[in-house]
Amino acid sequence: MSKYSDIRNIAIIAHVDHGKTTLTDKLMQFCGVSNEGSTMDSNALEGERGITIYAKNTSLVWNGVKINIVDTPGHADFGSEVERVLRSIDTVLLLVDAQEGPMPQTRFVLKKSLELGLKPIVVLNKIDKPAANPAQTLDAVLELFLELGANEEQIEFPVVYAIGREGVAIRNLADDRKDLAPLLDIVLENTSNAAINADLPFQAQTFSLGYDNFLGRLAIVRVYQGSIKDGAPVTSLLNGGDKKTNFRITKLYSFHGVERQVVGELSAGDIGIISGNATAMIGETIVTDISTAVLPEIAIDPPTISVVVMANDSPFAGKEGKFVTGRQIKERLEREMETNVGMRIVFQDDGTSVLFGRGELHISVLLEQMRREGFELAISQPQAITRIEEDGTKTEPYEELTIDVPTEFSGNIIDTINRRKGMLMHMGEREGTTRLIFEIPTRGIIGYRGEFVVATKGLGLMGARFLEFREYAGEIKKHVAGSMISMIAGPAAGYALFNLQDRGLLYIGHAEVVYEGMVIGNTSKGEEMAVNPVKGKNQSNVRSSGNDEAINLVPPYTLSIERGMEVMKDDEFLEITPKSVRLRKEYLTESDRKNGKRK
Ligand code: GDP
Repeated sequence: MSKYSDIRNIAIIAHVDHGKTTLTDKLMQFCGVSNEGSTMDSNALEGERGITIYAKNTSLVWNGVKINIVDTPGHADFGSEVERVLRSIDTVLLLVDAQEGPMPQTRFVLKKSLELGLKPIVVLNKIDKPAANPAQTLDAVLELFLELGANEEQIEFPVVYAIGREGVAIRNLADDRKDLAPLLDIVLENTSNAAINADLPFQAQTFSLGYDNFLGRLAIVRVYQGSIKDGAPVTSLLNGGDKKTNFRITKLYSFHGVERQVVGELSAGDIGIISGNATAMIGETIVTDISTAVLPEIAIDPPTISVVVMANDSPFAGKEGKFVTGRQIKERLEREMETNVGMRIVFQDDGTSVLFGRGELHISVLLEQMRREGFELAISQPQAITRIEEDGTKTEPYEELTIDVPTEFSGNIIDTINRRKGMLMHMGEREGTTRLIFEIPTRGIIGYRGEFVVATKGLGLMGARFLEFREYAGEIKKHVAGSMISMIAGPAAGYALFNLQDRGLLYIGHAEVVYEGMVIGNTSKGEEMAVNPVKGKNQSNVRSSGNDEAINLVPPYTLSIERGMEVMKDDEFLEITPKSVRLRKEYLTESDRKNGKRK
C-alpha cells in the first residue's frame, strides 16, 4: 500500500507568518490524512519514540497521487539547509501574504530555487485580509522573479489565490471559493511524476538526518531510482565514491500524513527514512550496485560563529531549570551533534563546551529548544570564527545581508554597515521601501540586529546568509552601548526604573528580581553604569506590584535568547533558564570587575 506509481515532491516556502502551517494543516484535513487535533507542529509521536528529525515532512494523497511535502527551515540563516531540501524536491510553492508581499526571507529561498532550475508555483495567500492587494502583490512577485534572474519558463509561473485559514484556493479571483482542490490540481498539472526509473538499480540521496533512541542515526532520503527492501545490504558513497560504507538496512519508513510509517519497501520517487548506518551523512548516495552513478554532493555551510556554553553559576543558578549541571548540558549537546548538520562542538577541560554554528539564529534555535526541555545554562558572547588558510592568510566568513527599510532610514543604515565593513552591492526602491544588499563579514553583523531595530524604529527587515570565507577585513569599530549594571539584589522598583529609563534602554520591568552584577539595561551614552534599580521613592512605602499609578514606565526591551546574544558584551554572560533570560557581568561585583580587567 505504500507503493505509489505516481509521486510528486514539493516544498512550501514562505516568510514567517504568511500562513504555511495553517495551509499545510488544511491540505492534510482536506485530503483526510490528519488526525483530529494534530498539527504539523505536534511532536508527541516523536517524543514517545525518541525520534528527532530536523525537518518535519508530511504527505497526502490527491487523486491517487502521493504528494510529499518536504519541510524547509524557516530561517534565512540556514542557507545550506534550505538548499539541500530544495535539491530533494521537484517544485516549490511560494506562499506570499497578499497584503504584505514578498519578504526578505522568501527572497533567499526563492533565489536558490530559481538557481536550481525549479519552477515555482505562486500562492497568494490571505486574500481575505481587508488590505490585501493580490494584483499589486503579484506585480511585486513578478518583479522579484526578474530581479533574481528567473528564466523565461520560470517567469511564466502559475498563480493560485488562497485563504489558507478557510481551506479555500481559486485560480481566478472571481471563481467560487469552495475548497483546496484547485491548488492540488495545479500542483499535479505543474509537476512531473517522480516515480520513474523504478526498474533501474537503487539510488537514493540523504538530504537530512534524524536520530532514534533504538535505531540510532537515521538518513532521510529521496529515492531517485529503483527500490529497496527492509533488511537489504546497501552501500553509502561519499567523496565521489571514494568513501564507501556498507551496511544493512534495519528499518524503512515513508511519510504518511504527519506520521512516519514503517514500510517493507521504499521505491523510486518517494521520500523516506533509512536506518542502519551510524555514520550516515548529508549528501551521500545510497546504492545496491556500486557501479551506480554517485549523485552530486550537497555543500554544507561551515560554522561561522562560536559561543561558549557552560553551567549557570549566577546567584539564581539552579532555581528554574531541571537539567543544570555541566555534564547534563554536555550530554544534550553531544546528542544534538547526531542530527544538527553544520553544528560542531569542542569540549574543554574546564567543563565548558564551545559550540560552533552558522549564525546566531542557528545557535539560538538550539538553545531555545534546550530551554523548553528544562535546561538551564549560560553562554558567552558569540564570536565570529577566523581561519588561517594553508598559505598563511587569515580569513573570516562573509555573508550576503539583505535589508528592507523605509527609505528615510537608508542613508543612515548604509553608513552604519559601511563602518562595519559591509559593501553595498545593490540598492533599489519601491513604494517608499528601500532594499539594500551588502556583502559583509559575519563579524560585522554580530550584535547589529538590536541596533538595527532601534535605528529603523522596528520597521526594518534584515536577513543574512553565508557566502564564503574571505580575507580578514581588519578591525571593525563598533559603537557599543554601555551596560547598566545593578549594584544590589532585590526586586526592581518602578520609581527607580522611571529615573533610569532616560539614561538608556531597560531590559527589566517593575518588580522583577535582580542580583548584583546583573545587567538591567544599556546606556545610550555608551558608558558602563552601576545603578540601584531597587531603591524606591520611599522604601518604607508599601506598594503592590505594578501599582505605580503616578509614573509612566516605558515597556522594557525584554530579553529573548536572540536579543540577549545581540546586546551582550564580551565581559558578559547570558543566563538562560526555562523561565528567564538574564544578562549579567562575568564578574558580579564592581571590584572583581576592576581586578578581572587588570588580569
Ligand atoms: P506560518 O508562520 O507561515 O506557518 O504561519 P501560520 O500558518 O502560523 O499563520 C500565521 C497567522 O496567519 C495565524 O494567525 C493564522 O491564523 C493567520 N492566517 C493563516 N492563514 C490565513 C488566511 O488565509 N487569512 C488570514 N486573514 N489569516 C490567516
